[in-house]
Amino acid sequence: MDIDSIIVLYRTRGGIAYGGESVSQLDHALQCALLARLAGEPDEVIAGALLHDLGHLLESGTDSLPTDRVDHRHQIIGEQALARTMSSRVAACVRLHVDAKRYLCATEPDYLSGLSPVSVKSLGLQGGPFDRDQANRFIDQPFADDAVRVRRYDDQAKIPGQVTPLLDEFVPLLRRLSAW
Ligand code: FE
Repeated sequence: MDIDSIIVLYRTRGGIAYGGESVSQLDHALQCALLARLAGEPDEVIAGALLHDLGHLLESGTDSLPTDRVDHRHQIIGEQALARTMSSRVAACVRLHVDAKRYLCATEPDYLSGLSPVSVKSLGLQGGPFDRDQANRFIDQPFADDAVRVRRYDDQAKIPGQVTPLLDEFVPLLRRLSAW
């Protein structure tokens, strides 16, 4: 998927609700990217934060809802869409952001209690917290540490009415990072 198509997708479908949260997909993406930028992340991680839920915008039919009983594995849909356009670091932030939640549940005692109810619900569908071996295997993967930080921005990027930069502000960064 090329950058122009990605931008069009966010412009046309970004208004859909972010699961059962009170922000749209576009608001969520922009809040997440802004948090990454404010934290001084490198461009690839900012792009990963912006695009981590791309798969939700690509899912056909109904959007993911907290009432869903299956996991659509949006992280894989998003990663596959980006695979030939973005670096493996950007793609890893997308692919691993769900497992990063499972990792943080396993390794930080207070993490689970800070999650939104929607996120706790989806955690169950996504396989629940990792055990120790799974957590060790996860964090040994390339760019898993980046994905963990993206996950923390993701968890915070759900504030209704939060002012963010416009999508246009991130377009030059996406173009710089894309392979063509
Ligand atoms: Fe998200």
